Amino acid sequence: MKKLYSPKTVREIMDLYGFKFSKSLGQNFLVDKNFVDKIVDAADVKNQNVIEIGPGIGTISYEMAKLAKKVLVIEIDDSLIPILEENLGDFSNVKIIHQDVLKCDFNQLVEEEFGGEDFKVVSNLPYYITTPIIEKLIEGRSPSDMTIMVQKEVADRMLADENDKEYSSLSVFIKFYADAKKITNVPKSVFMPKPKIDSTVLRLSLRKYDEKVDRDRLFALVKAGFNKRRKTILNSLSDLYPKDTLSLAFEKVGINKRQRAENLSLDDYINLTNVLNSK
Ligand code: SAM
Repeated sequence: MKKLYSPKTVREIMDLYGFKFSKSLGQNFLVDKNFVDKIVDAADVKNQNVIEIGPGIGTISYEMAKLAKKVLVIEIDDSLIPILEENLGDFSNVKIIHQDVLKCDFNQLVEEEFGGEDFKVVSNLPYYITTPIIEKLIEGRSPSDMTIMVQKEVADRMLADENDKEYSSLSVFIKFYADAKKITNVPKSVFMPKPKIDSTVLRLSLRKYDEKVDRDRLFALVKAGFNKRRKTILNSLSDLYPKDTLSLAFEKVGINKRQRAENLSLDDYINLTNVLNSK
C-alpha cells in the first residue's frame, strides 16, 4: 500500500529520481489524504472508465485504480513517466499515456481503450491550460462527467448565476453544457509546493443540449456582451447587429434593452440567438 499523498513519500521520490517541480507545467501535487479521498468519492469511479489528466506521481490515480474498471492517465512530463510506471505498475487496469492532453485524440483513445464506452474525467488540472482543456472535453468526445480541481476564482465564475458578481461568459458556456456542482474548497496548504492561490473541486455533469441552437453565434453573442459588461446589452451587442434589429429582437424575447450582459440568463441568450438567426 503506497502513501503517495504523504509529503515524506514525495520528498523520497524526488531524491530517488532527481525530480524537480516544474512551475510552467503547473505542478502542485496534492499531499493530503483527506482531499484525495474527497475527489475520488465525488468522482464515483467504481467500475467506471476514467481518464485522469496530469497524474503527477499518481496520487489520485492510485486510489482510483483500486475501484475503477480502467484508468488512463495522460502526463506530459517525461521525468514523471518512470515514476508513474513504478507507482502504478501493480495495477493491470492502468495505462500511462505520455502525451500533451491538448494533442490527444479523445475519440481514438475512447474507442481503443474503452471500446467506445462511457468514461469520466478526473483531474487536478494544470491551471495554465484550464479553459482549453475544458473546452476540448466539452466540445469533443465528451465524458459523462468531470471532477476537476481549478483555481477558486475560476470555479466561482463557472458556478455563477445571472446577476452574481462573478457571472461571465464562462458561466454561460458551462451552463449550456453541464450542471456544475461545488464539491469543496481546497486550501493552499495541502499542496507541494504550496501555490499562491486557493482551489476548488467541482463536478460537471454533462447533459444533452439543444442541437438546433447555433452555438458559434450563441457564444459570439455572449462574448460580445461580456466584453463590454458595463454597457447596456443594446450597446454591447451593437458591434454585431444594427440597433433597430436588436431592439426588435429584445422585444420579442422579453429582454429590457437597458439590462447588461450580467443580467441575462442562458435562456435569454439562447432565445436572442434564435430570434436574431431567424431574420
Ligand atoms: N494529479 C497530481 C496531483 O493531484 O498531485 C498532479 C496535479 S498537477 C496540478 C498538474 C499535472 O498536470 C502535472 O503532473 C503536470 O506535469 C501535468 N500537465 C501539465 N500540462 C500538461 C499537459 N499539457 N498534458 C498532460 N499533462 C500535463
